[in-house]
Amino acid sequence: MDNKGTALVTGASKGIGEAVALRLAQDGFDIWLNYRSDHENAQKIGAEVEKMGRTCTLLPFDVADCQSCEEALAPLLENEVPFAVINNAGFARDNLLVWMKEEDWTNVLSVHLNGFFNVTHTLLPRMIRKRKGRIVNIASTSGQTGVAGQVNYSAAKSGLIGATRSLAVEVAKRNILVNAVAPGFIDTEMIQELPMEEIVKQIPMGRAGSPREVADVVSFLCSPGASYITGQVLSVNGGIYT
Ligand code: NAP
Repeated sequence: MDNKGTALVTGASKGIGEAVALRLAQDGFDIWLNYRSDHENAQKIGAEVEKMGRTCTLLPFDVADCQSCEEALAPLLENEVPFAVINNAGFARDNLLVWMKEEDWTNVLSVHLNGFFNVTHTLLPRMIRKRKGRIVNIASTSGQTGVAGQVNYSAAKSGLIGATRSLAVEVAKRNILVNAVAPGFIDTEMIQELPMEEIVKQIPMGRAGSPREVADVVSFLCSPGASYITGQVLSVNGGIYT
């Protein structure tokens, strides 16, 4: 497999990010693997990437922290500019708005929206100079429709969809394509606490998705086959109507 350049995947120590990192490594990308705290799993994924003949650079930093983000990425950017950036890091802190703590509002917006800004803003000038690249933002069904208990998360994910569409217009002439993938219920730690037996009844395909099924779509958006797609939101949700 030819080397396709480098892909930065945020939040890649588990779940969807892990699957994306492994799938892009399989496609021929070297991986810059960001995560926040799970060093052990990140190391295991790094070893798997290397088994596929690609390099993996572990980058533990909080995407919501602008300074840490710049400190981690700036030295690497002296030698290499990623072709693909996958803004995936995230978490949910669900509660009805009346009971939501201010910190749960702020932290969820901060990780998804400031995280997108901090990472993308650090890389974009160099990507523009290269006049090529792909940015894929992991949104959610919650950003496309209303979900009780997720006012903070829905606001963050619909904000991310708006940012995707506007950035796509800004950089289209520089040959940088910006899209979002909106997963429905995907079998990761994030949904372990949810009553899935009840939820799957509402999913037309009758099951949760796998991280790999999201990763395959991200892989497509980073491939030559997606060369005329920008500013779009691809839903990967088993048919949930949004
Ligand atoms: P997950 O299994 O809980 O994994 C989350 C990943 O994000 C972990 O690697 C975690 O790192 C990392 N992370 C969290 N906060 C971070 C921060 N501030 N800085 C850097 N890394 C951070 O979650 P997932 O289900 O794979 O979710 C991945 C993305 O898909 C999220 O954006 C989520 O909103 C979205 N999504 C998920 C679903 C679903 O059903 N699972 C549906 C729609 C959208 P550590 O564990 O190392 O701290």
